[in-house]
Amino acid sequence: QSFGPTDLNEVVTRTMRLIQNDVPPNISLAVELDLLLARVDGDAEQLKQVLINLVQNAVQALGSREGRITVRTDKPERFGEIRNAGGEFVEVHVSDTGPGIPADQQQHIFVPFYTTKQKGTGLGLAICQRIVKNHGGSISVQSKVNEGSSFIIRLPALPSEQ
Ligand code: ADP
Ligand code: MG
Repeated sequence: QSFGPTDLNEVVTRTMRLIQNDVPPNISLAVELDLLLARVDGDAEQLKQVLINLVQNAVQALGSREGRITVRTDKPERFGEIRNAGGEFVEVHVSDTGPGIPADQQQHIFVPFYTTKQKGTGLGLAICQRIVKNHGGSISVQSKVNEGSSFIIRLPALPSEQ
């Protein structure tokens, strides 16, 4: 499936501008863009939805405590120079300094209807995963209890124009 060339930095910038007023004052929101990021074949509206879901989860995880949410675009560290099946990858990291996710829960959080919230739907991460997979990418989590969580979206990069 083809969506058309999309600049993830632009999607991040637009999405953060849209939602920054919904982030409570106890939470600081930081954006770090890799300005040399390659474009992806992507639907900006769907990718915006992914970011909104991830930031919303981070806001809910932090609750009323002081904390930080960082949205960062980057090339994958471990695969920096390695090319893969005709392309590289680009990543968006959504990180928070919230309570973290216990290791034994991390395997469940992408399953539809899994929620630990009183009024959660358990659909946010399932939708994120479906969208990212439809883009030929993957989403993963790194988290430590009492330190925070990072959700990493990895998408195939389009070849850069010469
Ligand atoms: P919902 O937000 O409706 O619970 P999600 O699919 O968005 O559904 O998230 C599933 C579960 O994953 C949450 O209920 C929560 O337990 C956990 N989770 C997701 N994001 C975070 C986060 N940033 N920090 C801590 N836990 C999280
Ligand atoms: Mg959610």
